[in-house]
Amino acid sequence: MTLTHRLRDIAMALAITLLCGAAALAAAPQQKTQAPGYYRMMLGDLEVTALSDGTFQMEPGKLLTNISPEQLDAALASGYLKSPIETSVNGFLVNTGSKLVLVDTGAGNLFGPTLGRLLSNLEAAGYRPEQVDEIYITHMHGDHVGGLVVDGRRAYPNAIVRAAQQEADFWLSKAHMDAAPADRKEGFQSAMSMLNPYATAGKFKPFSGDTELVPGIRAQGAHGHTAGHTLYVVESKGQKLVLWGDLMHVASVQFADPSVTIRYDTDPVSAAVQRKKVFVDAADHGYFVAGAHLPFPGIGQLRASGAGYTYLPTNYGALH
Ligand SMILES: [Zn+2]
Ligand SMILES: [Zn+2]
Repeated sequence: MTLTHRLRDIAMALAITLLCGAAALAAAPQQKTQAPGYYRMMLGDLEVTALSDGTFQMEPGKLLTNISPEQLDAALASGYLKSPIETSVNGFLVNTGSKLVLVDTGAGNLFGPTLGRLLSNLEAAGYRPEQVDEIYITHMHGDHVGGLVVDGRRAYPNAIVRAAQQEADFWLSKAHMDAAPADRKEGFQSAMSMLNPYATAGKFKPFSGDTELVPGIRAQGAHGHTAGHTLYVVESKGQKLVLWGDLMHVASVQFADPSVTIRYDTDPVSAAVQRKKVFVDAADHGYFVAGAHLPFPGIGQLRASGAGYTYLPTNYGALH
């Protein structure tokens, strides 16, 4: 065999290898599905499972207030983001060992097909809806209560639903709905359609003030985003996690500048005051925090940074 022949054979073998390699890549179709939407951590003796309800496209320029368009563009760019921002909706399941407690239920079918997955992710995480003992609602916006009812029936048939009395008084009042502008009435209707089946069954029990609801979980009022917006503080063996609900919405903007507000706030001034107060406490003490609209799983810690805060998403951990 001449050198030319040998080179030709090597080139041919190489070409076949490359072609086969290409064929092998093309043969496996891309899956284009995300991992199951749950993330689990232990907090002392308590098991906490973040549950994804899905994501939606948010246009912060149409929603955020108390910020100029230039400031907003700069804040988004510093987070390598641009509008619209894909935004998570998260709920949190706490197994205390004696009670299974769900905090917020996602949007159900109120907000289209990209949301409404919390229930299937609860099942993927190893639980059944009938096992849920209590449901704590941070506030009655549709993306937090929309998962309470499926096809007119209670999705969690054995659960007691709890929320702040002020929240119930505001959203479940026909007088308030009648007085609201036309484009705000739907929010009242959806809150009523989600809570009333539980109330009728004797399974809706509003609470008043900051109070322990089960051992290890207590309510802490942070009114402003809505009239009865409530944080839930989870504690065990010196570890602490504060479930924030809608204390904030846009991580890339509001950690750096907590004074930025959102049109959904019933009382934006109080919402900003609460946000600043809660951020200060979280950074001072370094405990875990979790947001309904922080990127899934939405659990992390805060550090003070200049005039604002840096958010540190929790380090991934295996469970033993
Ligand atoms: Zn809200
Ligand atoms: Zn929300």
